[in-house]
Amino acid sequence: MAHIDAGKTTTTERILYYSGYIRAFGDVDDGDTVTDFMVQERERGITIQSAAVTFDWNNHRINLIDTPGHVDFTVEVERALRVLDGAVTVFDSSAGVEAQTMTVWRQADKHHVPRICFLNKMDKIGSSFTYSVESIKKKLHTKPLVLQVPIGTGKNFKGVVDLITNEKVTWESNSNEDDGRVFERKPLTSKDNPALLKEAKDARNNLIEQVADLDDEFAEVILGDLCENIDAVPSLQLQAAIRRVTLAHKAVPVLCGSALKNKGIQPLLDAITLYLPAPNERNQELLKHYGDELCALAFKVLHDKQRGPLVFVRIYSGTMKPQSSIYNINKNITERMSRLLLPFADQHVEISSLTSGNIALTVGLKQTATGDTVVSAKSSVAAAARRAEKDQGKNQDRERLMLAGVEVPQPVFFCTIEPPSMAKQAELDHALNCLQREDPSLIVKIDPDSGQASGTVLCGMGELHIEIIHDRIKREFGIEADLGPLQVAYRETIMNAATASDTLDRMIGGKRHLVNVQLTVSPWQQEASVSTPVISYAESVQEAALAQDMKNAVENGMHSSCLQGPLLGFPVQGVQVTVLSVAAEPGTSLAMISACSSRCTHKALKQAGCQILEPLMSLAITVDEDYLGLVLGDLSQRRGNIQEVQSYQDNKVVSASVPLANMMGYSTVLRTLTSGTATFTLELSSYEVMTSQDQSALLNRVRH
Ligand code: GDP
Ligand code: MG
Repeated sequence: MAHIDAGKTTTTERILYYSGYIRAFGDVDDGDTVTDFMVQERERGITIQSAAVTFDWNNHRINLIDTPGHVDFTVEVERALRVLDGAVTVFDSSAGVEAQTMTVWRQADKHHVPRICFLNKMDKIGSSFTYSVESIKKKLHTKPLVLQVPIGTGKNFKGVVDLITNEKVTWESNSNEDDGRVFERKPLTSKDNPALLKEAKDARNNLIEQVADLDDEFAEVILGDLCENIDAVPSLQLQAAIRRVTLAHKAVPVLCGSALKNKGIQPLLDAITLYLPAPNERNQELLKHYGDELCALAFKVLHDKQRGPLVFVRIYSGTMKPQSSIYNINKNITERMSRLLLPFADQHVEISSLTSGNIALTVGLKQTATGDTVVSAKSSVAAAARRAEKDQGKNQDRERLMLAGVEVPQPVFFCTIEPPSMAKQAELDHALNCLQREDPSLIVKIDPDSGQASGTVLCGMGELHIEIIHDRIKREFGIEADLGPLQVAYRETIMNAATASDTLDRMIGGKRHLVNVQLTVSPWQQEASVSTPVISYAESVQEAALAQDMKNAVENGMHSSCLQGPLLGFPVQGVQVTVLSVAAEPGTSLAMISACSSRCTHKALKQAGCQILEPLMSLAITVDEDYLGLVLGDLSQRRGNIQEVQSYQDNKVVSASVPLANMMGYSTVLRTLTSGTATFTLELSSYEVMTSQDQSALLNRVRH
């Protein structure tokens, strides 16, 4: 995981080569790497979707997922981190910690994933090991454990000193012909360069002190027999202690190398097997209820022209077999899978069974989607529930027996999409269905007010996201769809409380439907960003003990009303609804009760005075000093708020917050302003209330 262009895909390619899975390595710039296999990835030289590969190293089975760095594809990182047990964070060592690295680091924190840092691009002019280590300390608020010191930098980068074993690990050749498979490991001796010797000695002492501070067991070893002779600390004990602190999230090991120049990858692979956890070392409370029974999480779906949907699962316990049925707890359905495959980017290998810890690819599951928990049969959920009850002495609801799903970020952009002709509408719907199943951050809505016949609306994470979807519809499904202009997905909220009452009285088929609903809406301050209404019932309603299906009908009505706010039809967030009374004539249908509750909520929201919220983005721009003035000047025209300008070498890194509405087409603008030398990342930070001036300008624009 890392910022775009740090070298994740290049590093992955080297890993696959050294572990013997490919005979020659590809290059992202030539568009022939294993893990960037989509046409769009190969053309653009960027990773769009996370690709899984399985390989072996030092008698360990490793499942690797190469993730994209671009914020538009953040759900790909989210689902990878959800199912992986450890991560390697790759850095461009000439830039240190970049904006998107901070984001993925936070995502990894959320999932409690232990990490290793790999400072890549040590061959680059301007690369700096110490700067990068400092920036890890400062920006990621973690303790870097430096396990290597580089030998030479830039063009002269030759290898590293392994501080654990006090050995020089070097790749002598710098030629591009050399694949780096052969390297030398030699003890560091007094004949070596004195400056390097001193640097290594200091760094090793530092490391030992640092680890002793974080690990009591190791501290005792040091304080005991070895305190006089710190050089004699056995490397196995140091290694074990580093492993413990890494797994306990107290620190992160740092290594360095150059993927492009084929240096430092083998030690990185060793470190992965040495310091990152095995599947059974990850503490998953829930799994003990399943014992040896199958429990797996579906985390990704791919559409294959021939084989239909392929579902990726991470197996947490038990064994998976082809030609078997599985029970999907979330959907409460049983499905049959035909084949079981071991993923290898787009080349998959058929297998006859796969055990816990692995990532598998299943063929034949039609309904299982990202985030679903699958087990072998409905009866195994019941058995797990009984075991859980025995252990904890209380009844477990179904939810407690499901693995946590995959969190999907909210889309910030939308646009209409139209087929080239009405006859193609069904095909387009099918394409969108397939794409949506693959990508939960793509939302497709039917907009009844759009005025067009089709009225299909695409909601996505950013301009690049929508552009790639458009391109895939064309190439994979052969449909030349037209996109409308990209628009910002606003939200609505209320500033005050209001009470409303509504009655619905209708004769349908000679039967009377009569219902009255009264409710109060008020701002929900505890967590203003919740996008579904927080519903409660007044005491009198609680006493009246509404039937559950009636309650559901009332709540459905409120939910649907909050999906389309009264101002511009955007979702309403931060709302609490208190139901004051619900009275229905016997025989009134649930649909009528829902409709009445929805209308009443809408009325109350209108009275409460809605307000537009706009997405505020955090923006990070890396720009050459010469263009800084131009870029800052332009930002101030975009209602931008500059938070910080940091320097690094000849570059400035600008951090700012800017309303998304002012960032349309920014990549082109920035390219023009800086002759293509600057890069930026843009990411949702929060939804903010607009000033009344900005809001009226927006309302005027949209309504007229
Ligand atoms: P990703 O976005 O993190 O997957 O990065 P890529 O692997 O696609 O690499 C981005 C660019 O950096 C490509 O042009 C690579 O050739 C280049 N690159 C990757 N590793 C190195 C390295 O070790 N040194 C140098 N100088 N360039 C590298
Ligand atoms: Mg990549």
